[in-house]
Amino acid sequence: MTKRLYDLDSHQVSTESTVLSCLPAGDGFDVVLDQTVFFPEGGGQPCDIGTLGGASVLHVREEAGEIIHRVDRALAAGSVVPGEIDWARRFDLMQQHTGEHLLSFSFYELFGASNVGFHLALDYATIDFDKPVSREEMRQAELLANRFVWRNLPVRATLYETEESIAALPLRKHADGLTPPIRIVAIEGADLCTCCAPHCYTTGEIGSVFIADASSYKGGTRITFICGERALALHRAQHDDLDAIARRFSCQREAALDAVKKLSDDYGALKKSERELAKALNGYMAAEFAASASPAGRFRVVAQLLAGMDAARLKDLAQTVSADKTIALLASAGGERLSYVLSCGAGFPLDVSELMPAVNGAFGGKGGGRGTLAQGTAPSVVGAKEALEQVKTYFIKRLSDQK
Ligand SMILES: [Zn+2]
Repeated sequence: MTKRLYDLDSHQVSTESTVLSCLPAGDGFDVVLDQTVFFPEGGGQPCDIGTLGGASVLHVREEAGEIIHRVDRALAAGSVVPGEIDWARRFDLMQQHTGEHLLSFSFYELFGASNVGFHLALDYATIDFDKPVSREEMRQAELLANRFVWRNLPVRATLYETEESIAALPLRKHADGLTPPIRIVAIEGADLCTCCAPHCYTTGEIGSVFIADASSYKGGTRITFICGERALALHRAQHDDLDAIARRFSCQREAALDAVKKLSDDYGALKKSERELAKALNGYMAAEFAASASPAGRFRVVAQLLAGMDAARLKDLAQTVSADKTIALLASAGGERLSYVLSCGAGFPLDVSELMPAVNGAFGGKGGGRGTLAQGTAPSVVGAKEALEQVKTYFIKRLSDQK
């Protein structure tokens, strides 16, 4: 059985080990050692990676009580090799994991919310609580967890040989399916629970605990949290973003939120004003189009090609210009695309669906509608002017024969 040095000292970075076995497996070789500083994944914490006798350790797992190191090249059985973990990765994971203990304890102490799920990844960490937690409660638990950090409390792991020996302990959590020896992680004056992973020596090493997000999850709450250097990196990035926004508004950081709110309000007012102006302008344009409509027997045809008019305004304009005896086909070229609207008044004798196939065909587009309104788009604006004239001629001919 491999001696688990990470259980004895979570800050031991390297050691010399004897290779007990090395077998080809998957993308490399599986190595078993007499002792190791490499933590296999467990307790929600990802495994260590690092180097072993010149080989890279790709991942480490535990199988049937054996710790198996997947390495990228073969190591001679019986040889003594130096092993070293990626300490930056391990320390970051320990910061998050020990922070998780403090957060879980704080939520439990303050609100009786139990941790029912923990996930620790290389870029984020979440805890699931079994009950809804308000924003204010979250803020309180976050503060309490940080107060434990600031007290720099010792974190100790102890192995207990029997279930009976831990029966009297006031554990916050006892993981299911454990076989003795059972490892208990104690944060002095705070948390006590079963856990197999390596942790910080003291809570001060966590640095800080920050809840970044929260959402409802399975009737409870899932929080996303970050600790230590990750928390500092987030603070730095968001602070820099805020500075960039403040510079953009030529204001102090503290005034940036109000500046953004004002811009948003101003933009809303401008959009409203623009809609009103467009409506008024549509009235003038409609009158002008109606005055220059082409006669077609008892009816009149308006066909106009416009530029850069959005679909809503184009529709409004077409509906304004069309009437019982006037049919309007308006097309607008916006970039590469052509949009078009066909509209007639309620008393018009033809349904637009009877005319749209000819319109789609001329523009090379797709669209449809029924009654008094149809809309379509074409992927190209090339030849749109000629196509419009062609449709107009067709409409005039068709309507001239209409009783
Ligand atoms: Zn733990």
